[in-house]
Amino acid sequence: MRTTCPYCGVGCQVEPEIQGGRILRVLAPDIPPNHGALCVKGRFGLDFPFSGKRLLYPMVREDRRQAFRRVSWNEALDYTASKLLAVLKKRGPEAIAVFPSAKTTNEEVYLTQKLARALLSTNHVDHCSRLCHSSSTVALSRSLGGASMTNPIEDIWKTDLFLVVGSNTTETHPVIGAMIKKRVRQGAGLIVVDPRYTGMAEAATLWLRIRPGTDLFLLNAMARYILEEGLWDQGYVEERTEGFAEWQASLEPYTLEEAERITGVEKEKIALAARLYATTKRAGAYWAMGVTQHTKGTATAQALVNLALLTGKVGKEGAGLNPLRGQNNVQGAGDMGALPDVLPGYLKVSDQAARKRFEALWGVELNPKPGLRMTEVFERIPEVEAIYLIGEDPVTSEPYQDHLKAKLEALPFLVVQDILENETTSFAHVVLPAASFLEKDGTFTNTDRRVQRIRKLLDPPGEARPDWWIVQELGKRLAQALGRPWALYPGPEAIWEEVRRAIPEMMGGITYRRLESEGVRWPCPHEDHPGEAVLFRERFNTPSGKARFFPVHFTPPAETPSEEYPFTLSTGRVLFHWHGGTLSRNSQLKEAYPELKVEVNPKDAQKLGIGDGEIIQVVSRRGRIRARAWVTDRTPEGVVYAPFHFAEAPANRLTTDALDPFSRIPEYKVAAVRLEKL
Ligand code: SF4
Repeated sequence: MRTTCPYCGVGCQVEPEIQGGRILRVLAPDIPPNHGALCVKGRFGLDFPFSGKRLLYPMVREDRRQAFRRVSWNEALDYTASKLLAVLKKRGPEAIAVFPSAKTTNEEVYLTQKLARALLSTNHVDHCSRLCHSSSTVALSRSLGGASMTNPIEDIWKTDLFLVVGSNTTETHPVIGAMIKKRVRQGAGLIVVDPRYTGMAEAATLWLRIRPGTDLFLLNAMARYILEEGLWDQGYVEERTEGFAEWQASLEPYTLEEAERITGVEKEKIALAARLYATTKRAGAYWAMGVTQHTKGTATAQALVNLALLTGKVGKEGAGLNPLRGQNNVQGAGDMGALPDVLPGYLKVSDQAARKRFEALWGVELNPKPGLRMTEVFERIPEVEAIYLIGEDPVTSEPYQDHLKAKLEALPFLVVQDILENETTSFAHVVLPAASFLEKDGTFTNTDRRVQRIRKLLDPPGEARPDWWIVQELGKRLAQALGRPWALYPGPEAIWEEVRRAIPEMMGGITYRRLESEGVRWPCPHEDHPGEAVLFRERFNTPSGKARFFPVHFTPPAETPSEEYPFTLSTGRVLFHWHGGTLSRNSQLKEAYPELKVEVNPKDAQKLGIGDGEIIQVVSRRGRIRARAWVTDRTPEGVVYAPFHFAEAPANRLTTDALDPFSRIPEYKVAAVRLEKL
């Protein structure tokens, strides 16, 4: 039976063949988005639901010094409800945060944020997008009035030039990476902006090996050069944008000469990239964490938006602005309102008309004050007294791990709901075992807004239950105690029907029946609508209908190399693993890539006498980890690259918790470190 891959935002369709408690093989149907293609994670990484580390029973402990007690579902849910209600009574909604998961379905995210808002009255609701594309979201939303990919994945076949900035697409979104490479073999151009010689850089027709954290300067310099050379789309700018004059004036300092000095890229290459992008009609911009995970993540994403508007690339086929979403349902989690400032459908909690719509649907009055973002919630502990955390492992995924652990130690009440034991489970008071993607029905939304089904192929093990069931049961108890309404649903399809009623302009036409054959993209307002492929063809989703330029300026990273810490650490992913490793390292892929390898440039290795394969220590101001050195010129001189999938050698023990001021995304991509031989 067909379902959706649980790893990355491509949302590949998979057909796992399961027999005798294991997956025999995984096939892929010839339908969008992957048309039969799969990467190694989809092919060999789907067996984590059979891991011995599955959480099988609800567990409770009153105090972290105690061992967990196995309890019944009734006891676990009664206890959780009573603790949340006690915090609510004593400290109010500001003391409670609820984090839905981008690994759970749209229906589950919708229900979780509803529980937070309608029952606990808190808008401290957030999810892992805070750590990946929150900066893109700020930039795209304020400029265009929408933050998703503007163009569909299949537009790759219509694109004549790709501008890929800070995305190791081959490893992080492999099926999209393979499609881009194929299109390049057919003759399209590929400009890659990346410090590392990634698979994309290898396929590039023009590779700009930039210094980490300097993309913004490069993009502004490209824009200035395009203006100087008269290569911009004046008609588009005049007709479809606003704020141009002020932005244009802001580009004065961004000369090619200065760009070469700051970025390390020859000015002729910057000029060539600018000319190619401006003069190719069907040129699409793609980006990922290399742009977003910086203290100037919003500003850098904004520079990309400005560049695309200047050259008239938005609202057209084969072009557009395409932030590649990470986790499989991170697009859906945002759509369903797992954010502190918006309800489902990106309707602002501060907007009275938006609140009224949901107040009528849910039968309660809603809190108009936007909540705290995930990174801010952790900082506010113990003022924030209770966190209900679903499907995340912040101990591995948040920056500056030791600081986060100290915060979690001080948190009076933590509920962890997940499928597998992880690093954060050990800080919990209540552990609720959830069903995996193979054990429940529902929908995920992939990176290009395509809503797709997941299907129940197995019963959950032990007493694990689908997240929607757990949230519904907890909500029942809270509602009863608070005297508030709380609808009960027979299953995920009934929850989806409420989503359709709640945000009809976005999801009204998407039914489970339609999703039987293949996914449907939003916006899809009615059942005869095919789903919108290219956004903003006629108007932008802003009050004026025009897109807005915003001036953005370069600032150096929060931490730069020093005598004591002479290297720049950059973190990221490898093809075989996924995020905190909870899923992929509990699958067959564990054997394929068993341990942390940090990339060290051969010249640096020679200076320090480090041999390829030698165990070394990587040390920052915040901690140290042991890792195997991989001596390779994939990584430039002065830079060390470490994937963050390995809990026993956590790269995030080293990273800084400096945040982007607009999105509060951490600067994972730049930290100062030194290398020590053992
Ligand atoms: Fe799964 Fe992404 Fe690989 Fe597709 S590209 S198989 S969605 S991990």
